[in-house]
This record gives sequence, C-alpha cells and structure tokens, in this order.
Amino acid sequence: MRYSTTGTQRIQNIQPLVIEYSQGIVAVAHNGNLTNARTIRSDYEARGSIFQTSTDSEAFIHLMADPRNLATPDPLGAALREVRGSFAILLMTQDRLVAARDRLGFRPLSIAKLGTGWMVASETCAFDLFEAEHVRDVDPGEIVEFSAEGLVSRRFAPPPKKLAQCVFEHIYFARPDSRIFGRSVHKVRYRLGEILAKEHPADADIVVAIPDSGNSAAMGFAQASGLRLDRGFIRNYYVGRTFIMPGDRSNTVEVKLNAVREVVQGKRVVVVDDSIVRGTTSRARLNSLRKAGAKELHLRISAPPIRHGCYFGIDFPDSSKLVAANRTVEQVRDYLGVDSLGYVSVDGLMDAVSGTRNEFCTACFTGDYPEKVEEDMDKQAMERRN
Ligand code: AMP
Repeated sequence: MRYSTTGTQRIQNIQPLVIEYSQGIVAVAHNGNLTNARTIRSDYEARGSIFQTSTDSEAFIHLMADPRNLATPDPLGAALREVRGSFAILLMTQDRLVAARDRLGFRPLSIAKLGTGWMVASETCAFDLFEAEHVRDVDPGEIVEFSAEGLVSRRFAPPPKKLAQCVFEHIYFARPDSRIFGRSVHKVRYRLGEILAKEHPADADIVVAIPDSGNSAAMGFAQASGLRLDRGFIRNYYVGRTFIMPGDRSNTVEVKLNAVREVVQGKRVVVVDDSIVRGTTSRARLNSLRKAGAKELHLRISAPPIRHGCYFGIDFPDSSKLVAANRTVEQVRDYLGVDSLGYVSVDGLMDAVSGTRNEFCTACFTGDYPEKVEEDMDKQAMERRN
C-alpha cells in the first residue's frame, strides 16, 4: 500500500503498525504523508508519550488513544480531523476493518466485494487477483467500517469544495490495469500520448517507450502521429525498480534496460517516458540509445516539467535535485543531450484525466499547493532528534 516517504528503512517502520491500547489491538496501514506529524509528535512527547517508529503514521495511533478523543462520540473521526496532509488509512481490529481517506482525496482508496466479505486497496488491480468486484471508492473525508453488520459509512469532514487527487498517480505511480479516481490508468496514459503527439509532433521514423513507465503513452503517441511503435529497450525483469534502491541509482540503471541496436540504429527515434525527475536515469537511458546508433532522439514526456517538491506522498527529491526546477525546457534538453524535448502541458494533462485543477493536485508542476505545509517535510525529519 505504501512506499517510504517518511522515515528510514527501520524494522519498526514496517507497516502495518500493530499496537495494543485501551480499546484493544489494532493494526494500522497508511499511505500518504502527514504534514503536521512532527508537531503532533512533539506535543505528545512533551507530555511523556513514547514513540516506537520514525514514521508519520504513528501520529494516528497516539491521536486515537488520546483520552480527549476517546471521550467523543467518534474517536477516530476526531483523530482524523487533527491530522493534515494526505492519507489513505486502513485499520483492523479483532472484529472490524475501517478505511478512511483524507478530506481532499490526495491518495486513492477503493472498496471491493468478495463473497460475503470486503476488500480495501489503493489500487483496483489488487482486487482482480482475487476476482473481487470493485464497488466504489472511499470518498474524501469519509470513514467506512466493515463488520458483521456490513458496510457502514460516516463522514469526519464535510464534502470539500475542491479536491486534490494526485494526478501523478495517473502519470506514473499507479498500475495501468487499475482504475484510479474513477478513471482507467492505461486509458489516461494512452490519451496523454495522443495529446503529446498533437502538442509536440516530431519528424521521426519510429516511436519507442521507456519501459514500463512510458508504454501506454508511447502507444497513444504512435497512434496519433501515425509513426510505427517499436521496442527500443528490453527490460531485465530480475532487477528492481531503480527509484526504490537506496544510495546511488546510476549504476542500477544500466543493467535494467538494454537498448536494442537493430531497432534504433540509423533511425530518428521518438522516445516516450512518463516523467523526468532528477534527470539522471533519463540521461543514462538516452545515452544508451545513442550508443546503440540512434541518429536523432526526440524525447516526449507525458507530464509537465516537475519543478516543485511533493509533500503529499510522492517521493520526489527536494527541488534542488529536480532537473527542471531551475532550468528552462531548452536547458533540460541540452542536459539530456537530445535533439528535441516536449512535455505535455498542464491543460493537456487535465484533458487526459477529464478533470480540472479543482479536482486534481498539480503542485509538483505548478507550485500551487492545495494545503499549506508548515513543517520541514524532509523524509528523515523524524529521525533527527533535537
Ligand atoms: P530521473 O529523471 O532520472 O530521476 O528518472 C525518471 C524516471 O524515474 C522516469 O522514468 C520515471 O518514471 C521514474 N520516476 C517516477 N517517479 C519517480 C520518483 N518519485 N522518484 C524517482 N523516479 C521516479
């Protein structure tokens, strides 16, 4: 459900966090980033509470166990009203499963029916494995409880005027066989490729994807431009996704994707990928296409330039390490060593998700943050003791 956005790789940080408190045993799984977790933590620590992990998710547990909240008719709702930032959260007690989604709907969370039981997952592709039937999404600001009595819903926050669904789920993060925020991820990406071909056409011979992140958009680009789609890279399936690797990622890049000389040699190649973050892997991959004999490289990106950090659950580095943060598109093109570079526009992106900026968070592209962030959101902030 979650990849690490706060806290280091400590055993105690592994989810679900399982604790025993005055109301019994509860297991907690959380996807997202709480932006006021440090304040909550230091308030509790000042009153003598002991924390076991260095993740923001532990804040939920202390808030739920707080006598102030336990005295209210809906202790979980009271706890959720105190946290800021993004969360899709799942709690399991001995007799029930409880799911909740933050009030702006940053992170996805879906419900499915499996026989007489229920499933909850961030991505609907998880349901397909069990042949469970996707019923609906958990609404932003909603708490859904599943027990012997069935599904019971309540709200901890009123329906928001604006949503902040993470558009990067559609661009990169979610699997293409999922439906996220009510839309097919593959279809959104395919459409992004079509829009990209209209916004930034290329005079070229073939289209190749950077697998797997660029696959769907490359199909859309090829379809809309009338260019042939071919396989410029073959993935080594025995090496993990680079961005999860700790430390220097540059040497893992080379072994993961191998350029196919017979496809690209002497060709003017459109290369489609979903996004450029630091630029390091992108540069290495493009360089390997050059070495394999590509004559021209026209890079097309199915996201706008990422210029701002994310505080709501996507693990981008701070803006000093984002290649597009302090560069023009022309400077990024030069840095990557390609003949042309085109990013999809924010309007094109909204067209592809059939949505508006009032429904999706686009802060990493626009700097327009849907919620104020007051804390230092460094990933290891809670590891550093004052
Ligand atoms: P780079 O620009 O060298 O950092 O690598 C960009 C590649 O990493 C693209 O193919 C993206 O699909 C992938 N990527 C997507 N999200 C992230 C992320 N949060 N951190 C790092 N890389 C990512």
